[in-house]
Amino acid sequence: MCGILGYAGGREAAELLLEGLRRLEYRGYDSAGLCLVDGSGLQIRKCAGRIDNLAALVGREPVHGTTGISHTRWATHGEPTDANAHPHLDRSGKLALVHNGVIENYLELKRRLSDTGHTFSSQTDTEVLAHLIGDHYDRLPATRDRLLTAVRNALVEVTGTYGIAVVHADHPGEIVGARRGSPLVIGIGDGEFLLSSDVTALVAHTRDVIYLNDHDLVWIEGGSYQLTSLTQPQIDREVRKIEWDSSAAQRGEFAHFMLKEIFEQPASLENVMRGRLDWENCSAKLGGLNMTPRELREIDRILIVACGTALHAAMAAEYVIEELAHIPVEVDFASEARYRNSPLDARTLVLVVSQSGETADTLAAMREAQRKGLRALAICNVVGSTIARESDGGVYMHAGPEIGVAATKSFTSQLAIFVLLGLLLGRLRHLACPAGRDILDALKRLPGHVGEILDHSDAIRATANRYAGARDMLFLGRQANYPIALEGALKLKEISYIHAEAYPSAEIKHGVIALISPEFPTVIICPRDGVYEKNLSNLQEIKARKGPVIAIAHPDDTTAASMADDVLPVPETHPIVQPILNVVPLQLFAYHTAVALGRDVDKPRNLAKSVTVE
Ligand code: GLU
Repeated sequence: MCGILGYAGGREAAELLLEGLRRLEYRGYDSAGLCLVDGSGLQIRKCAGRIDNLAALVGREPVHGTTGISHTRWATHGEPTDANAHPHLDRSGKLALVHNGVIENYLELKRRLSDTGHTFSSQTDTEVLAHLIGDHYDRLPATRDRLLTAVRNALVEVTGTYGIAVVHADHPGEIVGARRGSPLVIGIGDGEFLLSSDVTALVAHTRDVIYLNDHDLVWIEGGSYQLTSLTQPQIDREVRKIEWDSSAAQRGEFAHFMLKEIFEQPASLENVMRGRLDWENCSAKLGGLNMTPRELREIDRILIVACGTALHAAMAAEYVIEELAHIPVEVDFASEARYRNSPLDARTLVLVVSQSGETADTLAAMREAQRKGLRALAICNVVGSTIARESDGGVYMHAGPEIGVAATKSFTSQLAIFVLLGLLLGRLRHLACPAGRDILDALKRLPGHVGEILDHSDAIRATANRYAGARDMLFLGRQANYPIALEGALKLKEISYIHAEAYPSAEIKHGVIALISPEFPTVIICPRDGVYEKNLSNLQEIKARKGPVIAIAHPDDTTAASMADDVLPVPETHPIVQPILNVVPLQLFAYHTAVALGRDVDKPRNLAKSVTVE
């Protein structure tokens, strides 16, 4: 969600910033802008719409300088207009600010500033912050660290969330950054520094980064940087190495990042399982949990908290962990869990799931659990992300950068991690070794099985083309395949904008069946598992009402094939692992439908990749 990139060094910054903003495009945004400082003042270019619009503007009205800040905005306060795009200026017009997040007390601050003669030219909360910092700046003596002190003094008055980068016409070569609740990373290059909300914009220039914590400030000045904090006088933050290079975040020969990432799943699943299959003990090795077998044995309840696609993985985990380990599992929306007063005792394990590791609601729910003294473990993809750093342990997905807004490979990695966790917890209790080995066997075959589904991409496209005219669709599944149906519906909604709903298959009789008609297609996930016949009955109920049906079924299942209008085949595997396979044709179905409808698959409207606001 929204992006920041700043640069201070020896190179002309304009092209570099534009190129970096393009790497942040995947996060979702509606306007873009930049500001360069060259010793003679500030040069600002900003506009609503795509980076291409901004690049064209910069082409017509070039800017120069070796220090600059830039931004992609995802509007929270005020429509996506040129005036509301960042950077925003203070009253003097000499201080410029880009901001991710929400200043919650902006109205109160705006009223106070207005009373002392400040006027505003946008509807944003961000402009109020720019004025507030400028107001502090005006009242400070002309010391070297005047800009830093002004930012610090202003932030003390702010409630809400921010990642910010600030420049000043009288301080060429300087950038002040700060964060609270919205990520910010320093990139340390050769004689140059970058500041970004996301390492994706940094990897083309450096792999050495420092992740800022909440309340941290960074002052980039005179070819070096200094770190301070609003809460502590002295801080020290480790320089970390980014594990992947910029080619991992490129589309290559694929038409879209989403398609590339769907096709990466055999590899991402290999990666998530590497070193974690414990054949000797018919179990799983998850060292990052930082828990002894005794502590794992003592868990008597698990609460999993997540949003969106990660929530669907958590819902599948509920079935998997209860089945394998007989531990009661509860799943909650992070946005609900954080404000809810559910009784949690010392033996409850809290697990949070977030691809980016920056999801605002998930982070807040995790902090709330930790505040209550509970152990909170995290399942994240982005190494060094805030949730990964603040959790008490966890499991990395190792899926590589996921750029497509619609999550795909991170979902299958999350599902695989939950199978591993269920296996580990089960083997610490009553799951017998042969039963554990069967699951390991299925996991080992999983990447190959996913590859078989990907080979059918063209056939899935043909099916998707036939249904692309539908206005609404229904997705059904039972047990752990119910969350898979939810995920299939979500994928379709996100990128094709076709309305879709998902239900446990039998639930339709309690209302939704009223919608079934020849114009209302249903996708039903019906592998030959313990509820296979039940699913077939539901399929028949839909056919009896002339509803078109697409079945996700095993390739040799002639019964399902004879009842359904279309079949998207999935290889047969262990029922605990089967849901991981079942989602893959649904990802491809949504993708091909969106392409058939001419949608912008990698930049679906209104969506952001990493949701860093509440
Ligand atoms: N709240 C600010 C605005 O609406 C920043 C939004 C963002 O994070 O991009 O302009």
